[in-house]
This record gives sequence, C-alpha cells and structure tokens, in this order.
Amino acid sequence: MKVAVLKEPAPAERRVALVPDAIAKLRAAGIEVIVESGAGEGAWLSDGAFTEAGASIASRAEIAGTADGVLTVGRPDEAAVANLRAGQALFGMLAPLGDPGFAQRLATAGLTGISLDLIPRTLPRAQSMDALSSQANIAGYKAAVLAADTFGRFFPLLITAAGTARPARVLVLGTGVAGLQAIGTARRLGAVVSAYDVRPETKTEAESLGATFIELTSVGPASGEGGYARALSDEERQAQQEELSGHIARHDVVITTAQVPGRRPPLLVSGDALKSMAAGSVVVDMGSSALGGNVTGSAPGETVVTENGVTVIGAANLPSRMPAAASAMYARNVSSLLLYLVKDGSLAVDLSDELQRGVVITYEGRVVHPALAESAGGTDVDGASD
Ligand code: NAD
Repeated sequence: MKVAVLKEPAPAERRVALVPDAIAKLRAAGIEVIVESGAGEGAWLSDGAFTEAGASIASRAEIAGTADGVLTVGRPDEAAVANLRAGQALFGMLAPLGDPGFAQRLATAGLTGISLDLIPRTLPRAQSMDALSSQANIAGYKAAVLAADTFGRFFPLLITAAGTARPARVLVLGTGVAGLQAIGTARRLGAVVSAYDVRPETKTEAESLGATFIELTSVGPASGEGGYARALSDEERQAQQEELSGHIARHDVVITTAQVPGRRPPLLVSGDALKSMAAGSVVVDMGSSALGGNVTGSAPGETVVTENGVTVIGAANLPSRMPAAASAMYARNVSSLLLYLVKDGSLAVDLSDELQRGVVITYEGRVVHPALAESAGGTDVDGASD
C-alpha cells in the first residue's frame, strides 16, 4: 500500500497531513509514504525531513499514477480531485455534509472518500482519530492567545510600583472542546473567566477549569443528540441574545465557539451587545464562517473595529496559524485511521463496522454515507434566520 501526502491547495492553509515523526509507524505496517514536493513547507517541514524519515518525494502527477491512498487536511481543489484515478482513496476533512455534490463527484470518479470530520467521536476506538477534537483544541488555545495579544491591557492581575492592573474579564460562549481549551488558556494567562453553553452538562467541566458558569433564565437546556446542542427556536434565540447582552457588557474579552452540527452557527453577540462593550474590548468569533458567525458583523479571516472601539476578529482556520502542532496532531489522527483500515497491506473497507460506516462517504462508485444518502442531493445546512 502506498499513500501520498498532497500539498494543501488553499494559500492560507499551512498544515500538512503527515509529519516525519508519523512515518516510521506506517512503514512498519507495510505502508509506503510519498510526499508531494513542498507539502510540508508551511509547517517548517522540508522535503529532506520527510526523506530522512523514510518517505519519497514526488510531483503531483507521479502521485496520481502510483498512490493507493491520498492524504490531505482540508478538501482538495477540483483540479487535484480530477487528477486522481478510480480506485484511489482520498483521506481528509472533506466537509461533505454541506455539499453533497462533492461526494457524488467522488463516487462518479470511482474514488473512495474517507472524511475524518465524520469520525463517530463517541466510539472509544475512534478517539485517536478524532481530528475535529484535535484541531478544536488548538483553535481554542489560539483564540485565547490571540485575544490576549490583541487586548491592550494585561490578562493577569499585576501589582507593580507603577500601579496595579486588574485581571481581564473573559467570557467564553460555547464550552465544547474549543471553548474548554479557551477557558483553560485564558485562566493560565491569569484572566477571570466566565462561560456559558446551552448544554447544562458542560457546567461542571467549565467550573473544573476555573470558570464561573453563567445560567440564563430565559433559555432552558438545549442538549441535542450525540453530545451536541440542538438548534434554538427563533423565540429562544432572541431571548438568549438579549439576556447574554447584559453579561457581554461586563466583559473585556468575549470568545465565541458555538456550533450546531449541520446548521449555520447561532448568533450570540448582537449589534446591541457589541455597542454595550467598552472601547478596547476584544471579541474573537470562532464560529465565523461564510454562512455567518456567532457575532454580528464578523467575517472569516477579517478583523474589524466597531465605531465604539471593539475589535471583532473573524477567526477563520486558527489551527493553520499553529501549523506545526496542528499538523503533528492531525498526522496522529490520520495515521491511526490508516492503521485501522489497512489489513494485510491493503485498504480493507468494511461497511458493517460502525466506525467505517461513519467515515467512509463513497465506495465502489456509490455515495454510501447514511447522512449523505438521506439528504439525497439536498443540503442539510438550514436557512435559519439568525
Ligand atoms: P461543537 O463545535 O459542535 O459546538 C461547540 C459548543 O457550542 C457546544 O458545546 C455546544 O453546546 C455549544 N452551542 C451550540 N449552540 C449554542 C448556543 N446557541 N448557545 C451557546 N452554546 C451553544 O461541539 P464540540 O466541541 O465539537 O463537541 C460537542 C460535544 O461532543 C462535547 O460535549 C464534547 O465533549 C463531545 N465530544 C465527545 C467525544 C467523546 O465522547 N469521545 C469526543 C469529542 C467531543
């Protein structure tokens, strides 16, 4: 079995799907590794570092002709997909749920699509393959560091001869994997941290990291399936935004991480809430996406300063801003999955296995993932009027 690492197509994507440290284990399992020349550059990994670890370096054309499996971080561009040949397997965070046409194109091309963002996360044997968690951890850390870097005051309490600085008041909205890491990081930097989530079961986790958990009186518990939140009704959304505004006004920094699977991110910080914040405050919107974000007026990859002096950071792809750590963790995730799927030197897809049913999206010319087959060509992303 030969697997090849593609250079990521997006200019802002600095991660790479495998790192040299991951190669020995794959080779021991009979998996040969080919790396597209320059694939590791963004993460400070030279072609030489890969060859020293036992990989060979090749051009994209050579990869298309020889590899059985192709590894990426994000979804490859259409040109790269067109370059692949029937029978090859494509591993990556392919994000197929919002675009079922993509899976159909893979199926038509005879490619086996394996999407790491669909790993069934609650299966204990899948934990080392959980790329959503590994990357969310990095994003949560980076969001807190970015907020501290942007904030014009100290995060910790400082008592000096030149005066005393009070600690920053940080509010984390959404306490899943990224939110909990943001809480821990902001606490380690010395901030006083509050947190809120619609899933009440996150209260003890947030508190164990040193945050004060905020409970809203106007919105009841909204735990959904599989450990995720459910989408709120229009009335709940309105009530949530209004009640949150009072809390937001009392904080110097707000970090938002709220997501509901298959939906656009819920809007938590309204325009009025931003207006109520003091000049110099910082808001990092990790929900920021092309579909909208958790914060009014945020745009992915852009930083805007409101009229009243609040810096709103549309935090797109934070893991790519820590490419060495993010690539190393992703490499661990993708290697674990490969080692799980490869039997006797070749890819052994078995759709009767729950883990594989969750992660394999196309096989033998068909779209096989239940969530994609259900949506039957329609997108699952709703048009909720946040
Ligand atoms: P996510 O990225 O989907 O969402 C982030 C957070 O936003 C969640 O905590 C969610 O409740 C919250 N949220 C959604 N709508 C909101 C709203 N309107 N207001 C406030 N908060 C809102 O979630 P995630 O971080 O990927 O993980 C979600 C859960 O899955 C967590 O409980 C996590 O522990 C669990 N998980 C379990 C395993 C495992 O069992 N091995 C692995 C990974 C994650």
